Amino acid sequence: MRALIPGRGTLPEGWMPEQVYVIRYATRPTAVAAEHFMGHIAHGEASMPIDYFVWLITGPDAAILVDAGFTPETAEARPGREHLGSPLEVAKALGYPVERIPSVVVTHMHYDHTGYLGHLPDATVHVQEAEMAFWTGRHVRRGLYATIAHPDDVAGLVRANFDGRVDILSGDAEIAPGITVHHLGGHTPGMQVVRVQIPGRAPIVLASDASHFDANVCEDRPFSIAHETPRMYDAFDALHQLAVGTAGERGTIVPGHDPAVTERFTPADGGDPRLAGRVWSLL
Ligand SMILES: [Zn+2]
Repeated sequence: MRALIPGRGTLPEGWMPEQVYVIRYATRPTAVAAEHFMGHIAHGEASMPIDYFVWLITGPDAAILVDAGFTPETAEARPGREHLGSPLEVAKALGYPVERIPSVVVTHMHYDHTGYLGHLPDATVHVQEAEMAFWTGRHVRRGLYATIAHPDDVAGLVRANFDGRVDILSGDAEIAPGITVHHLGGHTPGMQVVRVQIPGRAPIVLASDASHFDANVCEDRPFSIAHETPRMYDAFDALHQLAVGTAGERGTIVPGHDPAVTERFTPADGGDPRLAGRVWSLL
């Protein structure tokens, strides 16, 4: 098990993934199609809402969080985004308060994936070296880069690294039994996706922003924000490959921001009105 500080940021011995949840924490209903695809598209002004999610891979007594969302303060600073509530509150309602989340994968360091990291002061954070290097490098003050990551979140990761809590990865890695991360790049330099292999089940590939919508990976249409467009195409190929299990069975690619996720999977609110419209089971 990857843990940098003994006793901290460690999954229990023998931990295996049993369930994967998708948690919705914000939405932007006024978004239009033109915002989501590179280049000219027909009917670009058509309504195409975007949702914001984190993912929770759960097992006995502990869970791995994939991405850390953004906070209500950030939603206020970025018009159009409606915050629905802390994703960590949903995780707690599922039985996984922050003390039971020793491990967080940051797929990339855009503002909508890092906001609650400061609420997980003991967790080990798994992030790609290329991503840390970019957001602490000389280009962050230029154009879109200056606004799409949150300086306080980046600084928090730098501090966490000094504290020994950041697992800086150079490429693909297994971070727990059945859980692997894959460095694909494209959207950002260190964009990584998470593959969950639960015994006896087809793989689940948490694409995050390697494919914001089904339409990106399924129709070979890059998202509007791309660090390297050719690598984004390669990432689509990699996602399709990662979704195939060892016996050739076809698994699931879960897009990072597609409201279709809320229709495709099973609500996991357990009848709790506070969780309605907030959480689905991917199995
Ligand atoms: Zn995103």
